[in-house]
Amino acid sequence: MRTQARAVVIGGGVIGCSILYHLTKLGWSDVVLLERDELTSGSTWHAAANIHGLHDSANISRLQHYTMRLYDELESETGQSCGVFRPGSLYLAQTENREHQLKLQAAKAKLYGMNFHEISRDEAERLHPLVNFDGIRTIMWEPDGGNVDPSGVTNAYAVGARQRGAEINRFTPVIGTEQQPDGSWIVKTTKGDIHTEWVINAAGLWGREVAKLAGIEVPLQPTEHQYFVTETIAEIDAMDRRLPSVADRDGEYYLRQEGKGLLIGAYEKDMRFWAEDGTPLDFAHDLFPDDLERIEENMMRAIDRVPAVGTAGIKRVINGPMIWSPDSNVILGPVPELKNYFMCGGIIPGFSQSAGMGLMVAQWIIEGEMQYDMFPWDVARFGHWANNPDFVKAKVQDVYAHRFAIHFPNEERAAGRPLRTRPVYEMQKDMGAVFGLNYGWEHPLWFAKEPGTVDTNGFTRQNWWGPVGEECHMLRDRAGIIDISNFAKYRVKGAGAEDWLNAVFANTMPKTVGRSCLTPLIGVRGGIAGDATVTRVAEDEFYVISSGMAERYHKRFFDMVPLPEGTTFESLTDTMCGFNVAGPQSRELLQRLTNTSLGTEDFPFMRSQWIDIAGVRALALRVSFTGDLGWELHCAVEDQKRLYEALLDAGKEFGAGPVGGRALMSLRVEKGYGSWSREYSPEYWPQEVGLERLCKLDKDFLNKAAVEEVLAQEPREQLVLIHIDDAAVKASNADATGGEPIFRDGEGIGRVTSGTYGYTVGMSLALGYVKHGKASPGDCVEVMVLGQPHKGVILSEPPFDPKGEKLRA
Ligand SMILES: Cc1cc2nc3c(=O)[nH]c(=O)nc-3n(C[C@H](O)[C@H](O)[C@H](O)COP(=O)(O)OP(=O)(O)OC[C@H]3O[C@@H](n4cnc5c(N)ncnc54)[C@H](O)[C@@H]3O)c2cc1C
Repeated sequence: MRTQARAVVIGGGVIGCSILYHLTKLGWSDVVLLERDELTSGSTWHAAANIHGLHDSANISRLQHYTMRLYDELESETGQSCGVFRPGSLYLAQTENREHQLKLQAAKAKLYGMNFHEISRDEAERLHPLVNFDGIRTIMWEPDGGNVDPSGVTNAYAVGARQRGAEINRFTPVIGTEQQPDGSWIVKTTKGDIHTEWVINAAGLWGREVAKLAGIEVPLQPTEHQYFVTETIAEIDAMDRRLPSVADRDGEYYLRQEGKGLLIGAYEKDMRFWAEDGTPLDFAHDLFPDDLERIEENMMRAIDRVPAVGTAGIKRVINGPMIWSPDSNVILGPVPELKNYFMCGGIIPGFSQSAGMGLMVAQWIIEGEMQYDMFPWDVARFGHWANNPDFVKAKVQDVYAHRFAIHFPNEERAAGRPLRTRPVYEMQKDMGAVFGLNYGWEHPLWFAKEPGTVDTNGFTRQNWWGPVGEECHMLRDRAGIIDISNFAKYRVKGAGAEDWLNAVFANTMPKTVGRSCLTPLIGVRGGIAGDATVTRVAEDEFYVISSGMAERYHKRFFDMVPLPEGTTFESLTDTMCGFNVAGPQSRELLQRLTNTSLGTEDFPFMRSQWIDIAGVRALALRVSFTGDLGWELHCAVEDQKRLYEALLDAGKEFGAGPVGGRALMSLRVEKGYGSWSREYSPEYWPQEVGLERLCKLDKDFLNKAAVEEVLAQEPREQLVLIHIDDAAVKASNADATGGEPIFRDGEGIGRVTSGTYGYTVGMSLALGYVKHGKASPGDCVEVMVLGQPHKGVILSEPPFDPKGEKLRA
């Protein structure tokens, strides 16, 4: 066994082997995989191993397609069969919402050049004569869908990695991972130690235990999962071809041919956790006792759809373990608190995603960043707050039992909540707030007339659509009070604070106390990794406001630039709160509560002051994400309630009240403002988002060389604001929400990043990216709302306050 390696992968399941393969493919041959047993001896060996290309997320779809293509290459490259069958997959819609979901996916497939399209019932019956298509509204066809052999794929990755110089050690359990003073690692095994630059935890079912060896916790929980295989079915036996798989997700089961019978699996409501206190170390090629009663309801639905299942005997039942994260996406990425420790655990569709995941891991480790924005997979999307066993279990139960449910835009799931609340939570609840989950915090999305109201869900306009409009009008006509406590807040203090911030962010930091600047944070590939408002609050102190959900994600970037001696960086997110008071009467409203003059001359745009307001000390910043006249007030969490009460009380005279996050979304889109994770992402270059003038190339900052390189190139895409035709949205009763493809003259030219109704400008709006040179202001496009073409026009300027006169009033 080697004693030295650039990277050590722990775990020889399909994911560990794919990571090893991709590390070698990207040029690192000095890599080792350690497996405590045989390869595949976690969840991998017993998987049904179905493969699909389509996913609601465009980037995950791209990676699933890459995975499906790679299996063919892998076979020819290694000579090891992956056991790939591609008889195609049929996707069935029983409900209108499922129809919308599938049509949207078909539109995305067309944009990204993937094969997924609608077919007729006749054609479907020809493809799968055993399916009863009664009650099915829409049928989609994915010709590449199918399944693979789990051991074949895992071994093919292993062969491919070995051919490029990797070493694989089976029956070599890792028993310790120790970080060295220089940041490198000693990986301890029963057969000796390996000194390595990178540790990659791909220990699947044992991901939690292996993480603990490095002193970290990850929010993962295993469950049982079952499928069964029928005896030979005569009709299948008589066929000279393989039947397509059937994705009847409204029926909550999956079904495909296995041998000359059928394989049926289900994510049942009455699910079972496993290994709550830790995965047993002696578990390997083991299974649990069968418990088909638990999936009986799902089975009955499968029998209704494919009657042959009901008459066939059961040949084999597999009840095996799989391990879940709270949102069912992988937990992937360098752990921000440790140097060179990469986590990759909690993968559910391992066979649909293995290659894409291996590629992303290898890119991140070798090239410093992935080519795609994969925040939905990033370990940093969860903070330490998520390591709460009750929260994890409640979420896992919910995601398991709703595995095949449609996840609607704007959907908020109640499981495991509330987890983190601020002092005004109960007050907001009493005022009818409907909450969303933002990095663990409860955060008001909108205010219903009746306390206790919850969101209805769907692709069309829902119960919140009207009330959110009233909040927007209230703010634009009079004033509104928005809780912005979920922003991330940081204090940088000390003689070196300015230099450090200048070395981190692309813009030049304000020279004068009381001034603020907007600044991008540049990613390793030169894209927009973040945006922040930085305010100089004292000669040697700065207050930084950025995206709340990106706090742990941004920590990685902040840690790349060492703090000067004597300068401190502190997160104030948990200890400071904020309200944005905005609208034409916000000045009068706030002036009632403070002696500090808020007049145009005394308190201009982009300035800040510590003020006393309603007896509370608050940092007042004249910035506004609504695009309207307004101030942000940041105060200590202990003062939050007092300040909120005073603001609401003073607001009564003006007809002003609370406004939630959904209204803020509409207001900022009316003004054409981008938001992190939607318009701002490491995938987009500054000149594509309109932030290039904030990159000051006359100074040094993080990833400057990368941004110089991209700024020297033509933009690939351009952020545009589209007005979607009134008649079209009236007919569909739906606005864009994000992700919808944009077409022009039948050609896919872009996609929506944020969509909403602009209530105060009377327009259905979509912010999105279109390919450079493919469309300009005034041009007509088609936005695929609900997967159906909706005419739209690219606007030349934002419909609200295009000259910024109200903002600066
Ligand atoms: C019944 C069932 C059906 C499924 N069907 C499908 C499907 O149809 N399609 C699909 O895409 N996915 C399916 N899956 C999920 C799929 O199996 C997983 O996504 C995938 O196997 C996860 O692979 P992994 O490599 O992350 O983890 P694992 O397979 O659990 O591998 C982890 C490896 O790490 C090793 N290890 C652990 N600790 C140590 C240590 N200390 N030292 C060294 N090695 C260690 C283990 O021995 C193990 O081999 C199914 C799962 C189940 C249970």
